[in-house]
Amino acid sequence: MNERQLQEKIIQIGNDLIAQGLTEGTGGNISGRLPGADWIYVSPSGIPYAEIKPEDLVKIDLKGEIIGGTRKPSIEHNLHLKVFQNRPEVNGVIHTHSTYASAMATLHREIPPILDSMVASFGGPLRVAKYATMGSMELAENVNEILKTDNGALLANHGAIAVGTDLDQAMRRCHLIEKVSQIMLFASCAGTPVAISEENIKKALAFLRANYGQK
Ligand SMILES: [Zn+2]
Repeated sequence: MNERQLQEKIIQIGNDLIAQGLTEGTGGNISGRLPGADWIYVSPSGIPYAEIKPEDLVKIDLKGEIIGGTRKPSIEHNLHLKVFQNRPEVNGVIHTHSTYASAMATLHREIPPILDSMVASFGGPLRVAKYATMGSMELAENVNEILKTDNGALLANHGAIAVGTDLDQAMRRCHLIEKVSQIMLFASCAGTPVAISEENIKKALAFLRANYGQK
């Protein structure tokens, strides 16, 4: 992947977020980097996804200096930047306002590991980042408390975020957060969903490492 392809990927993910119902309007934001680069591209503030062109994306170095583009970056750019500062292996970050995840986020209640499909991606619960004003440094810090180690989180009264080694993986995790949120809500209507035990999570992770995929 080169710089131009990364820009196109971010634009495509933006359009997918709308088409797949993971956000609406100009809500949510996306960032990505080429592996090893000391800069990132972030989606611009307040431009509908369908109208974003490669030159609208904002290039920011890891210290937070804008080094390319003429637009204002997303108001959540500090949130994105901190993930890249803390996680050298992460190259894609996507923040959504998807419906079921947002519903869970209003409850301020973490989602325990209730589904096998959560194990490989998250390895534990989906935790809730403490409420802070949207776009604030405080929100960036609250979310990154969790994302220092976790691959996804809910943002209290706001939405969700997922990270990945590339943007496609981050996108799959956004869908998984949405699905798990939906299942948590449905299951909670009928009873108390049972979490997979830590011991069983460890076993599952070891089994996946040894057996999953094409060798
Ligand atoms: Zn948001």
